[in-house]
Formats: sequence, C-alpha cells, structure tokens
Amino acid sequence: MAESRFTIAIVDDDPAIRRLVGLILARAGYETFVCTTGEEARQALTSRDWDLAVLDRKLPDMDGVVLCQELRADPVYRSRYVIMLTGEDDQEAKVEGLELGADDYITKPFQVPEFLARIRAGQRIADLQRELMETNRRLELLSITDGLTKLYNHRHFQDQLARAFEESQRYERPLSLAIIDIDFFKRVNDTHGHAVGDEVLRELARVFHESIRSTDLAARYGGEEFAVMMPETNLEDGLVFAEKIRDMIERTPVRTQAGELKTTVSIGVATVPHSKLHSAKELIVAADKALYRAKRNGRNQVQAEKRRDLDRRRTAVADVRKSQRRPSGVSR
Ligand code: GH3
Ligand code: MG
Ligand code: MG
Repeated sequence: MAESRFTIAIVDDDPAIRRLVGLILARAGYETFVCTTGEEARQALTSRDWDLAVLDRKLPDMDGVVLCQELRADPVYRSRYVIMLTGEDDQEAKVEGLELGADDYITKPFQVPEFLARIRAGQRIADLQRELMETNRRLELLSITDGLTKLYNHRHFQDQLARAFEESQRYERPLSLAIIDIDFFKRVNDTHGHAVGDEVLRELARVFHESIRSTDLAARYGGEEFAVMMPETNLEDGLVFAEKIRDMIERTPVRTQAGELKTTVSIGVATVPHSKLHSAKELIVAADKALYRAKRNGRNQVQAEKRRDLDRRRTAVADVRKSQRRPSGVSR
C-alpha cells in the first residue's frame, strides 16, 4: 500500500489566511485541503481522511470550538489533532478552546517558523496516535484469532453466536450452527506426528474459510473441532451446506509433508427458531448432540438436531431427496 501523505485540513473564512497557510504547508511538503465555512468543514472533516486540522475559531456560521467538540464526540475522529487559529490574543479564549477539545492554539498574526514548529509537534502526536491505533487493531484481531488456523477462536465465536442468537430471536430470522469434528484425528497424530496433524487442521480450516458466505462465521471451536455459524439459514439449507463440506473433505485428500492424507469429518447441525432451544448455549448443545450421533452412527456423516414432528416432516422430505442422490448423505 502506498504511504499516504500527512494531510492537513485548513478551515478559515479569510481567503488571505487560507492562501498563506496553504502555501506554508504545501512548501513544507504537506497535503492540504481547505474549507471556508463551518458547515463545509463539518461535512469534509467527517467524510475525508485527514491527520491534522488548522481550524479558525471565528467562522461566519459557527464557533470553531463547537466543531472541535463534535469531532471529539465522534469515535473515528476523536483523536485527530486540532490546532485552533484565531485573531484574539485573549487568554480566556485560548484556555476555553483548549478545555473544549483543541490540542493547540495559534494566534494570528503568527511567525512562520513557530507555526511550522507547532504543526510538526502536532504531526509527531498524530503519527504516534495512528501507530497506537494500528497496534490496538492488530492486538484486537490477535485476541480473537486462533494462532494455528487463523480462523476466529472459541471465545470470539461464543460472543458472535450470542449476538446472532439475539438478533435471530428479535427479528424472527433463522440461524443455523454446524459443529464439525475430524474423524479419528488422533490416528493422524499417532501415525504421522503432531506437525502433520497441524497441517491437516490448517488445511481443513482453509476449506471452511473458503466455503462459507461473507455473513457466516467459521471458528476453531476446540482442538480438532470447528464451528460455522450461519445467519439467515434454515435447517434445510444448513444441512445442504454441511453435506457439501463433508463431501468435499471426503473427496479431497489433504497434502502434507507425509504425503496426501484422506480425512473425513462428522457434522452436527442445529437451527433456531426451535421450540426447545432458548439460548445460544442450548443451540450449541443441540448441534453437539447431533454431532455425537453422527460419530456413533459411524462417522463421515451429517446429523441434524431432533425436531418436533411438524418440523421433522418438512425437513424429512428434503432428506429423502438428498439421500436418494447420495447414499452417504444426510441422515437424522
Ligand atoms: P473421533 O472420530 O471420535 O473424533 O476421534 P478422534 O481421534 O478425532 O477424537 P479424540 O477426541 O479422541 O482425539 C482428538 C485428537 O485431536 C487428540 C488431540 O491430540 C488432537 N489435537 C487436538 N488439538 C490439536 C492440535 O492443535 N494439533 C494437533 N496436531 N492435534 C490436536
Ligand atoms: Mg475427532
Ligand atoms: Mg474432538
């Protein structure tokens, strides 16, 4: 990515000041843009990207301090550097401006070297602030990511599922959950070693990541267990997805340093709304039970949670159609 230049917004109603400040900053190598009124600045400063603003306190339509306060209230622009510019060499006005959110204060007329020194001081702070935010973003991502597979981790999945569950309840929309467990994975470790086991986990994680829709969320749920959350997906479609994944993994051996390894997975699927599932936790238990049944029934298969008769009859039709197409398909 090309490094974007440090950008300074110049907000002043006086054309002479705009020209002067613009010239000084352009000569010093800064990118600039100008706004001539408070309203124009309000628009530009909350839609464009900028690093520092030189803001006239006395604008024809607004007190610059008000705009400054608005920026402080906006999470995106809260930490941007603002230098207030005014003609009044009034102690009280300076203190008030700083108290209300300005980072620095320059009075007109100003000396160019001092003006530039203050800009550079502001730039140092603004650059540090950006770095800090970038570090925070990376740490945040790290805290929700599984190190081995780069999928989301268990905790993040739980948080997101709880949120999706509430949304599904509130808007009466379906939400499906698939829990996927690798069959006889211990054997892979025992036969080929832990490093090869890790390769298999990474490769299957890639398959899950690439198979889901942008609104779905895949996570490493446990050691060799994965979970996929599918909003706006009813049981029938959830089963279709699970069967597609199961089939793909069965048909595609994983390339590892120990050669190509055949793997299969068992999958349990559960969906809300459901007469007996009243929390995200119960949804997980239901999918887990279905997974357990898939294991008990011989593995390499998809099982759905048990439904009431009415629901069951509806999905049973789909299951029959599917199992006619593929004998190893979904069963319930
Ligand atoms: P089942 O078909 O019943 O699921 O059999 P299984 O062998 O897959 O199940 P089991 O729960 O007995 O074994 C899971 C294995 O997964 C045991 C553990 O060593 C392995 N495992 C868990 N986390 C990791 C990991 O991060 N890396 C590797 N290589 N193996 C892991
Ligand atoms: Mg397993
Ligand atoms: Mg397991």
